[in-house]
Amino acid sequence: YDAKRNDLLVVAYEPERHSDPRGLLAMVGELRRAITTGELKVHYQPQLHTGFQDDRTTPSGVVTGETRNGLLAGAEALVRWQHPRLGLLMPGQFLPLAESHGLMDAITREVLTQAVAQQSRWRSVGRDIRVSVNLSAGTLLDRSLPKTVEALLDEYQVPATSLVLEITETALLREPERSVSVVKALMVLGIQVSIDDFGTGYSSLTQLRQLPVSELKLDRSFTADLLVDPRAAAIVANTIALAHDLHLRVVAEGVEDEPTLAALAHLSCDETQGYLHSRPLPAADFDDWLRRYELVRVPGSCAVASEL
Ligand code: C2E
Ligand code: MG
Ligand code: MG
Ligand code: MG
Repeated sequence: YDAKRNDLLVVAYEPERHSDPRGLLAMVGELRRAITTGELKVHYQPQLHTGFQDDRTTPSGVVTGETRNGLLAGAEALVRWQHPRLGLLMPGQFLPLAESHGLMDAITREVLTQAVAQQSRWRSVGRDIRVSVNLSAGTLLDRSLPKTVEALLDEYQVPATSLVLEITETALLREPERSVSVVKALMVLGIQVSIDDFGTGYSSLTQLRQLPVSELKLDRSFTADLLVDPRAAAIVANTIALAHDLHLRVVAEGVEDEPTLAALAHLSCDETQGYLHSRPLPAADFDDWLRRYELVRVPGSCAVASEL
């Protein structure tokens, strides 16, 4: 485990290396157990208001460029597996296995529970932090999901409006009628829905017409090429304009440098998320990051991680 890069050097799950079905089955068993023994950890990555030249109205209220610029807007919950032998595993190393072995619903429930419990701890110290949780395609077919989430929010006394559920365009395609009805039931509760990795899936515009979502997340591939590829820049600029016409906020993911942040601010992108601000962190480290960030943040600008 390379702590500095927050990256695992060994790959835990490689289909070709795991041609041994017993090794694979053992891993599935370990994962099934991990869900119930607290080995799944949720990390949080900050999303910051970008700030605008002028004040505008978004679904979350009036955004004042002067005062909200750089302020914390929310956090994305990202799951990790603290494996007893292999160390900290990233989602790409175990979620495919969970998908193919019917463990995604259980993992989603665990992540949702940890995230909402954390929101309630933040609320108890006076912080109402919006949290985004990722849903996988299969989860959207579970008709009991809205009831489960409603019960969870009720148990922890967290308002539905502070929870965002991220779905992908592709997830809605498997069984469109059923998944759209589950998403609508979540929206009726007041939960916000976000389209993740926007632009990389299929029939994005049809989804936007069908579902009154709150947020679009611009895929990292567009953010990363914003300054070097005029075609990526044109897509980003016009996606932001389209989203604003539909009264949606836009979050750019994968923001790694200041010139990209400045370009996104120039294009009126509402919020940014990425290594420039912070990597995803355990809740305690997130709290430390936030305290230091708030100390150094210059009103009217986004402070960068190097200043911390
Ligand atoms: P995503 O939802 O698009 O999450 C963003 C990913 O980009 C995260 O990877 C995050 O760590 C990474 N990232 C953030 N900022 C930067 C940056 O500036 N540069 C680069 N290169 N990467 C950045 P992570 O945590 O490995 O998660 C990967 C994917 O796994 C997520 O993509 C999401 O689709 C899925 N995932 C993560 N947690 C969950 C979960 O609890 N449930 C479900 N169903 N899926 C999850
Ligand atoms: Mg996401
Ligand atoms: Mg994403
Ligand atoms: Mg992504």
